Amino acid sequence: MFIGHYGVSFAGKAAEKRLPLWLLFLAVQWLDVVWSVLVMLNVEKVRIVPGFTESNDMDLYYMPYTHGLLGTLALSAAFGAVAMLFWGERRAAIWAVAAGAVFSHWLLDLIVHVQDLPLWGDSFKVGFGLWQHRWIELALELAILLVGAAIYARAVPSRTRRGDTALWAFVAAMVAVQVYGSFGPEPESGLDEAHMALTAYLVLAGLAVLVDWSRGTLGTRIASGVGSGQPGYAR
Ligand SMILES: [Zn+2]
Repeated sequence: MFIGHYGVSFAGKAAEKRLPLWLLFLAVQWLDVVWSVLVMLNVEKVRIVPGFTESNDMDLYYMPYTHGLLGTLALSAAFGAVAMLFWGERRAAIWAVAAGAVFSHWLLDLIVHVQDLPLWGDSFKVGFGLWQHRWIELALELAILLVGAAIYARAVPSRTRRGDTALWAFVAAMVAVQVYGSFGPEPESGLDEAHMALTAYLVLAGLAVLVDWSRGTLGTRIASGVGSGQPGYAR
């Protein structure tokens, strides 16, 4: 799963408006961000096997730290704890949304991955394998993204028309990236995949800053009127 994860980021911002969208963009891919780095360090391993699944060629045969259930729980709790450091009030809510966003990655990966997600150490691997059905998998990714974006647009209304334009242009660009990912050429090696993935996650988190900013909802302070569901733009 790739852009589907970001549906959770958008919904997370609706649930906890003090968190910046970019942080939630990083949170839902945090397991993959750490995975990219560990693949580059040759700690976790992936190899390209043409036709491995209908959606991609990645045989993710060793990733116990970032995609094992225990590692995921630890990375989720730690990410939530760091996010919590930056907010003084109702810290439990901040922790729950940030850690929950990280953990959601594993649950969504569970639906699409083949049996490569270990429950214990490097064994008892699970995965429901929706990557074997390219069109259904693509439809699921788009559905989660669009539902999340719609929840966000409603719960965190933009003060300007520009903010809505920015949001939906961003969503359209993400859809295009996903379609390219599902049907475009596959990376040459696992290392290429790790570099591409890390770059994409950082660029998308950077663009999320612009979306939040253009809607006037970047920081912890939500301007009066915004977030109360009032219809119409300020200007
Ligand atoms: Zn993953």
